[in-house]
Amino acid sequence: MLKVPHFKAKSNKVRRIAVLTSGGDAPGMNAAIRAVVRTTIALGAESFGVERGYSGLLDEMIFPMVPSSVANIIQRGGTILRTSRCPEFMKASGRKKAIDILKRDEIDGLVVIGGDGSFRGAHLLHNESGIPVIGVPGTIDNDIPYTEDTIGFDTAVNTGIELIDKIRDTASSHDRIFLVEVMGRHSGMIALHTGIGGGAESIIVPEVKTSIDQICTSIDRGVKRGKTSSIIVVAEGCQYGGVAPIAKELEKRGYSTKLAILGHTQRGGSPSANDRLLASTLGAVAVQALLSGVKEGMVGVKNREVVLTSFKKITGKKAGIPKELLSIAKNLAI
Ligand code: ADP
Repeated sequence: MLKVPHFKAKSNKVRRIAVLTSGGDAPGMNAAIRAVVRTTIALGAESFGVERGYSGLLDEMIFPMVPSSVANIIQRGGTILRTSRCPEFMKASGRKKAIDILKRDEIDGLVVIGGDGSFRGAHLLHNESGIPVIGVPGTIDNDIPYTEDTIGFDTAVNTGIELIDKIRDTASSHDRIFLVEVMGRHSGMIALHTGIGGGAESIIVPEVKTSIDQICTSIDRGVKRGKTSSIIVVAEGCQYGGVAPIAKELEKRGYSTKLAILGHTQRGGSPSANDRLLASTLGAVAVQALLSGVKEGMVGVKNREVVLTSFKKITGKKAGIPKELLSIAKNLAI
């Protein structure tokens, strides 16, 4: 279980807290919404939901929420509030409109569940309005700095591993090389964890260059050892741009491959136990922080403890890939 900081509730000015989900959806976002709504009400404040992220805010889609509004959603993937990408919010004029709407509706605290893009918007919204805003990291990519875990990542990895297990059954029956593409346009975190958990022979991530020769070597090594199948996990954003160009190169060298693109299957599905617990804890702490007078920042996890980090620290930074895990993966594939 995560260690949770103690926030002393003040008789502070935050009375009406709104929550929205923004950017890419992730399994577990519903559990986070539920935690935000119920904690807000349990601690004596009023709860509001905003539909479709910043776009819905600009369209004034703000409505009151009660404990039963979030009944029976903890196990559901996606987000009941729905999400969006909102180019208008990138402009100061768009944010000014959103701020006017929040002020008119007397919203004095906002919880933004999303990724680093959503937090850039949240940071600006806070700076330009003074409205307290807390971010809850919700993204399958686990690529946000200052948190070791993000809501949705564990479910996405579990889904990937389950599918690889199925692929391996058929791959080993036919002596096949399978190239499995997983999500991750800029981050290899899903590929790395899915690859290790699925026992991949090779893992190709955007952060590390891998030559076609290196891929061939790992396949050949497996064949020499008598392996009946090879699974190569590829992040969609790797240097080759996915599995198809790698397959072409391998084909030229006489290797016949099969492709599987897991794509959006990794975004869906019922959240794992880890994601439900993470989302419930971070959603609750976000509200406790607002009610204790914290003005801005993201709730995240460091060394199994929930921590708060100012948006200023997060902006413009990227979470790196753990290189030690990459070398562990290599050794496990011999
Ligand atoms: P994610 O939050 O999953 O990283 P995006 O990067 O698409 O997803 O961001 C979601 C939304 O956050 C954008 O559509 C936009 O409305 C807002 N946003 C992203 N970057 C900025 C920015 N630099 N300034 C203001 N708003 C931003």
